[in-house]
Amino acid sequence: MIKKTFIKPLKFFILIKKILFLFSFFLPLALLHAQSYAIIIKDGHVIDPKNNVDGIMDIAINEGKIVQVAKNINAKQAIQVVNAKGLLVTPGLIDIHSHNFFGTEPDHQYENGNLALPPDGFTFRNGVTTVVDAGSSGWRTFPTFKAQTIDESKTRVLAFLNIVGEGMRGGYEQNANDMDSKMSALVAKRYKDIIVGFKVAHYEGPEWTPVDRAVEAGKQAGGIPVMVDFGGSDPPLSIEELFMKHLRPGDIFTHCFGQLGTREYIVDLQTNKVKPFVREAQKRGIVFDVGYGGISFAFSQAIPAVKEGFYPNSISTDIHVGSMNNAMKDMLTTMSKFLAMGMDLKSVITASTWNPAREIKHEELGNLSAGSEADIAILNIREGKFGLFDYTGYKIETNKKLECEMTIRSGKIVYDLNGIASPVVPPAKAAANASDAQKSKTH
Ligand SMILES: [Zn+2]
Repeated sequence: MIKKTFIKPLKFFILIKKILFLFSFFLPLALLHAQSYAIIIKDGHVIDPKNNVDGIMDIAINEGKIVQVAKNINAKQAIQVVNAKGLLVTPGLIDIHSHNFFGTEPDHQYENGNLALPPDGFTFRNGVTTVVDAGSSGWRTFPTFKAQTIDESKTRVLAFLNIVGEGMRGGYEQNANDMDSKMSALVAKRYKDIIVGFKVAHYEGPEWTPVDRAVEAGKQAGGIPVMVDFGGSDPPLSIEELFMKHLRPGDIFTHCFGQLGTREYIVDLQTNKVKPFVREAQKRGIVFDVGYGGISFAFSQAIPAVKEGFYPNSISTDIHVGSMNNAMKDMLTTMSKFLAMGMDLKSVITASTWNPAREIKHEELGNLSAGSEADIAILNIREGKFGLFDYTGYKIETNKKLECEMTIRSGKIVYDLNGIASPVVPPAKAAANASDAQKSKTH
């Protein structure tokens, strides 16, 4: 006999209720699971020189890291979507010549003084996520710089340690007795995650002592580079001797397009050509860095060099109170000048991302590889009428200029010029947030 089984109406009702209960419990989890990324950057023109990416791509970010760079990542998988259509998406820019040891000590200049700048106020609005302070502190003053600026900044701040123990404090830079290779190397080794090399600057004597002591410190610290702001003696010292006899491959010649009386230039003013030994030096591995600065960049050097295809290895600003309010202005204006002189966009981006990362031996930076920290710049090429000048007053006109639309540092949006990110909160919640913020703040 076949036993008929059926569910009584009451039992059936309880079963449905149980199913609904379970569904209500798992549905939000399922939805949460579907949103597997914090941010997706959609439809931007991605230029990632390290990985040879140059095309329209999406980038997925989660927990501060880049998860994926691919075509058509489903936007529904993200909590927040950034619309980058028509914009450039690059690794966060790296400026390897900046001055950030700002402070209030009178007459201290770039060493805890008022000529240096707090990084966060000037980096993110320019797509810069990493700066390397160029010798503002020395081995004796570095701990103060670290405590008051490096540890307190959202920008990643690395440093070249000045070979002068005191750092970049006006007349102190002429004191050869304070150029201690051993102490400098010891401090660099102690802070090896932050100190990337040594700096020589502003020395006016006719000796090679500062360069040689810095190179010695570089060797003792395990083979890290030296950046030289070279030449202050009259008559000038030979840069051929500097490149071929004193520096090692990987050492950095900053202010490479400078044209000052006490310095030998890289472009011969008679022939208007890059001197042959300069090309040899670049082949040998000497790094040519822009370090634009107040008076350390002249179009009369840069235009002929770029015209014959001699590109700087890295583009950097030498930003400080003087340069930012003069011809230099900022990182993107400096990059725009190289575009205007005819350097192609990909080379300009490479010289501002992957090349500087390699120069400072931090190859985890300056690229968009999956697994990297999500430091990203989203840039707009603005069209219009622009004048770009140098400190001598020479001006070139251009119709293109780079502008920062958004900067992402370690997976967080730290600058958004035109609100291209979709809001994380619905409008009603946003309004509540605004009134809460008003209640808790006085300004
Ligand atoms: Zn400088």
